[in-house]
Amino acid sequence: MSQPWHALEPGETLTRLDTAATGLSSEEAARRLRECGPNTLPASRSDRWWWRLLRQFHNVLLYVMMVAAIVTAFLGHWVDTAVLAGAVVINAVIGFIQEGRAESALDSIRAMLAPRTRVYRDGRIVDIAAADLVPGDMVRLTSGDRVPADLRLVRARELRIDESALTGESMPVEKTTLSVDPDTELGDRKSTCYAGTVAVFGHGAGVVVATGSDTELGRINALLSGIPNSTTPLLRQIGRFGRWLASVILLAAALTFVLGVFWRGETPSEMFALVVALAASAIPEGLPAVMTVTLSLGVQRMARRNAVVRRLPAVETLGSVTVICSDKTGTLTRNEMTVQKVVCAHRTVDVGGVGYAPAGNLTTDDGTSVDPATDTALELAIRAGVLCNDSRVFEADNSWEIDGDPTEAALLVLGRKACLTQEAASTSWPRLDAVPFESEHRFMATLHRHDDARQERIFLKGAPEVVFAACSRQLDSHGVAHVVDTEYWARRSEEIAAQGLRVLALAFRDREAGTGTIEFEDACGGFTMLALVGIIDPPREEAVVAVRECHRAGITVKMITGDHADTAAEIGAQMGLGVGKRPVTGAEIEVLDDSALRRVVAETDVFARASPEHKLRLVRALQDNGHVVAMTGDGVNDAPALTRADVGVAMGKGGTEAAKEAADMVLADDNFASIAAAVREGRGVYDNLKKFVLFMLPTNGGEALVVIAAILFQLTLPLTPAQVLWINLATVSTLGLALAFEPTEKTVMRRAPRPPDESLLSPFFVWRVAMVSVLMMTGSLGLFLWELESGTSVEVARTLAVNAIVVAEMFYLINSRRIYTSVLDREGLFGNRYALGAIAACAALQLLFTYAPFMQAVFGSAALSPTDWGKVLGAGLLVFVVAEVEKWVAARIRRSPAPV
Ligand code: ATP
Repeated sequence: MSQPWHALEPGETLTRLDTAATGLSSEEAARRLRECGPNTLPASRSDRWWWRLLRQFHNVLLYVMMVAAIVTAFLGHWVDTAVLAGAVVINAVIGFIQEGRAESALDSIRAMLAPRTRVYRDGRIVDIAAADLVPGDMVRLTSGDRVPADLRLVRARELRIDESALTGESMPVEKTTLSVDPDTELGDRKSTCYAGTVAVFGHGAGVVVATGSDTELGRINALLSGIPNSTTPLLRQIGRFGRWLASVILLAAALTFVLGVFWRGETPSEMFALVVALAASAIPEGLPAVMTVTLSLGVQRMARRNAVVRRLPAVETLGSVTVICSDKTGTLTRNEMTVQKVVCAHRTVDVGGVGYAPAGNLTTDDGTSVDPATDTALELAIRAGVLCNDSRVFEADNSWEIDGDPTEAALLVLGRKACLTQEAASTSWPRLDAVPFESEHRFMATLHRHDDARQERIFLKGAPEVVFAACSRQLDSHGVAHVVDTEYWARRSEEIAAQGLRVLALAFRDREAGTGTIEFEDACGGFTMLALVGIIDPPREEAVVAVRECHRAGITVKMITGDHADTAAEIGAQMGLGVGKRPVTGAEIEVLDDSALRRVVAETDVFARASPEHKLRLVRALQDNGHVVAMTGDGVNDAPALTRADVGVAMGKGGTEAAKEAADMVLADDNFASIAAAVREGRGVYDNLKKFVLFMLPTNGGEALVVIAAILFQLTLPLTPAQVLWINLATVSTLGLALAFEPTEKTVMRRAPRPPDESLLSPFFVWRVAMVSVLMMTGSLGLFLWELESGTSVEVARTLAVNAIVVAEMFYLINSRRIYTSVLDREGLFGNRYALGAIAACAALQLLFTYAPFMQAVFGSAALSPTDWGKVLGAGLLVFVVAEVEKWVAARIRRSPAPV
């Protein structure tokens, strides 16, 4: 290649890529896609299956077990060797399968998060997956977009790009279409944009020059953000605890060995086998794997409810959220906008119909129909709404669809109801330039060619107060301009807003034909007011229910909207937010200092006319008040607030890529109800993690206690080393997994949020673990000693002890399905079919252990009589009943209603 892309002129770039300013055809794009492959970076090497399998053996416990297997082999304890080797393999395979599950869950979620982009195909702008981009495609960029591939710009309007991901430079860089010197450094190449960077201001278009691993991003081999394989605070806490426990156990085992051999005079080989069994029984080796599966299953469940988690820790944080700050439009409301009223200087027109179908009449108060052609101001207002517009309405499969901003689509539908289509309007008044809508300045302006060639016309549409400030005159129905009656417009605007309608004002201004471009300042004065439009956007019914559910769950919901205070107050009231209270506006927030804001934020639920900077201050104030905050956002400027919030939530449909990148979670349907659902799942996941730890620790503890007691009191060993290993093997591969599949309890949204700093290993947990460990030991050891006493053979007594422990674990699995409340109801006993399946599988293994001749030969087990099984069940019931009674007593002691 002679010249690098940044040094080429736009025209040369197009020629070299054999494309045009109108982009590629679909056929050509498909052909190039086959040739060049998708615009994605290859998966990292560690994703290969054999690597994942090998990694499973990298685990302290497995190292210990492997060493032990070798030593027992040298000592000639072949049974122990085989069982140890089996345990090592099974543990690794389970870990492998579980990790595979977790990975595939995350993979499908990564696919849901795949960025999309807008390109010209067949001369039209279409929305496609960024993975389908090919060299030669013409991509449109607007602020908030993530640059989907390496682009040579062919158009740029004040385009600024945040290239920090690539260059580390934190200030956004201004881009132009002018070519630069071939030797220019990456950070200074103003004519090209690179994949992985983000447009933070302005707009532009560029032709794709490189995709996938050919991009700069692919070259420097940085990873595309997706779901980082990060862990969560709880997993880290558990990991630390697991390692600590493992070292304590290994130390204790070493001590036992030394004591046994040198003090009690046991043979070293027997003692060695015993301490290996002790260590294997006490170390909770399944802990990290099951925790990861529980989390990823939670992530999958949330995805099914349209909440796509980008960062794993958010799953946990969601469970302790105390405040949700939500946008209004589209999140709490349906974002199906319909114009209901047009208010001109001298009359009000009602507009019939709902949704985007252009069916409905324009009428006056008394029902007489209005012909816009007879009213200059009305006709021009409708025309302004259609022309000052970047959206599209179209009919597809017998229904009317929109493309773009629903507020603008509503104006297009109004146009169609007045027999003015977008095509007709823009043919007679072609657009020359535009200042796009941004939440910060709340208006949009477009420049059009005038009938009179010496002039050009600017249409302005935006929030009433912004447009009023730019108007000095107003137009009447005969087309005569008068001095603007600001008081009239303000009153009418408040009136419409108080009905919960979104209000937009429309105005125009003619000026001498000039450069054919407009700047921000051109929209600030000299306009003639045309009309106000009132647009209805009904609340989402499911959001109303979700707000109620959040309130019950001790979560405060705050609505932060860019809309007018009166509109916000009315919609808020319909949602049950801030009823009877005046909303606080962005302007009011600005004059408050931080401590005053902390007070205000504690008392206010509805914030209006707020912009992204206000959101950031509100999050800070709430966090200073001790809250854990979830905050929604869609625009590029929402990113700081989303990053700052404990759980940043971006809109999947209406949100910019910048917002999605800053967020911890993305809502596939932009719906508030999905946040509530995610909180619910988040609480459920945390519960399941707790339940699993509560199940796992005492089952390991019980076994260990049996062995320790036997050594301490110099009793006949109730469990042989091989049997201890068997119990571990049989239960870890069955029972341990079941709790990861535990459905979220129905009552999770009826308790208060969990304190964020709550430690998992609370005194209550330690108590529960100790109690159940002792109970398990009592059942097993008691039964063993009792049997020996009554003259039974040691084989039968040991088989009884083994079965007592396993059956007690089965019963305790059911207890563990609810931490604080009784499981004595249908749902509690039978609600998790994985648990029932696991118990059945485990029971089958135990029958094999007890009766199969080869098992008897290997493990020294013996057949049991029905009476023996009765005793075994008794030991299981002992654990079950005492655990249930303990819950009952603990609930009484707590006096307050149980948290579950
Ligand atoms: P939120 O989603 O946070 O509830 P919002 O989306 O309603 O807020 P913005 O989109 O920032 O808030 O809109 C703020 C105001 O800007 C609206 O009340 C309206 O008056 C005006 N406005 C909205 N969309 C447009 C548009 N496309 N063109 C011109 N003005 C607009």
